[in-house]
Amino acid sequence: PLVYFDNASTSQKPKCVIEALTQFYSEYNANVHRGIYKIADAATEEYEKVRIKVNNLINSYSERSIIFTSGTTESINIVAHSWGVENLRKGDEILITEMEHHSNIVPWQIISKKTGAILRYIPMRDDILDLNNIDNLINNRTKLVSIIHQSNVLGIINPIREVIEKAHKVGAKVLVDAAQSIPHMNLDVQNLECDFLTFSGHKMCGPTGVGVLFGKENILENMDPVFGGGQMIEKVSLDKSTWNEIPFKFEAGTPNIAQVIGLGAAIDYLMNVGFDFIREHVSELIQYATSELQKIEHITIYGPNQNQGSVISFNIDKYSAYDLVKLLDCYNIAVRAGHHCVQPLMNHYNISSSIRKSFYFYNTKSEINYFIECLKKTIKIIDH
Ligand code: PMP
Repeated sequence: PLVYFDNASTSQKPKCVIEALTQFYSEYNANVHRGIYKIADAATEEYEKVRIKVNNLINSYSERSIIFTSGTTESINIVAHSWGVENLRKGDEILITEMEHHSNIVPWQIISKKTGAILRYIPMRDDILDLNNIDNLINNRTKLVSIIHQSNVLGIINPIREVIEKAHKVGAKVLVDAAQSIPHMNLDVQNLECDFLTFSGHKMCGPTGVGVLFGKENILENMDPVFGGGQMIEKVSLDKSTWNEIPFKFEAGTPNIAQVIGLGAAIDYLMNVGFDFIREHVSELIQYATSELQKIEHITIYGPNQNQGSVISFNIDKYSAYDLVKLLDCYNIAVRAGHHCVQPLMNHYNISSSIRKSFYFYNTKSEINYFIECLKKTIKIIDH
């Protein structure tokens, strides 16, 4: 028996996803977009079907906007190294936030160094983003806003619509990091009007090694590819090459075929479970876990009182997060201790680590009860 409360890191995989991978490898393993024999056709068809599923999942404009990547990190880096390098000049501004995951900070630090653009941050005020100064932070020099939708540490969903509207008024583009939100809610890129949206398959029941970069067609058309190789070209001669149409221009080489097909199975599975159920169930678990944790002496829970997300981060007095989590592992409880790849946010709270419980739809209240019981036992063990 395992109590798995580390879903913000990666989710568990349903059988249908594992079977989709096995079926691909055992029944129609072939490369995509190339072969003219039956199993190559089957592989291409299944792979491209997933593009349609993703297009529907996020209500995108067309499959041409859906690029398969290895995950959120690669998706953000493609935007940074293509759109960023081509469009940012000295004195331009990139705006991100103090609660970003490292994968939405470091690429922009690299690109600002390369281009001379200035990297600015929407700061934290207590437990939320401080939008008081937003009209100054989003100004005529702002060319890109890149923002996390749902925090991977605090129970927060950021008001991205408001930010997108303001950014568009000054002509800036907006990237939404949806790695934590897409496993839990219906996202609609047409409604959001974001220019880019990124996410990973492995946090939404899919395999590792697959993710998505959504981009508006007219923007993608005008971006250069980051990676060169097979599949992304139209014509290659000894002195120059021309590019394939989007989205293929951004998918150089043999893609992660099995993983993409697995992601398709995960999307079907999640649609079947239903996002309404997922949100309602996870929100009940969050409320219950919060009220139970609040009964523990000397606990500090980070984030606003009203937890809107699927994670709870906390520390307990003098106890090291690592010690507690290591001992909880003895009871087969998997939770995370660390900085959760958000060191600037940890600095805001003046801590170096926290314990993070993150839920998904398969978790239960009885698991939370077991967790609380074991947490109390571990505290006692350390005290003695
Ligand atoms: N952004 C957020 C908000 C995340 O939680 C994560 C994963 N922890 C990432 C980006 C990076 O995702 P991946 O490691 O799958 O590329």
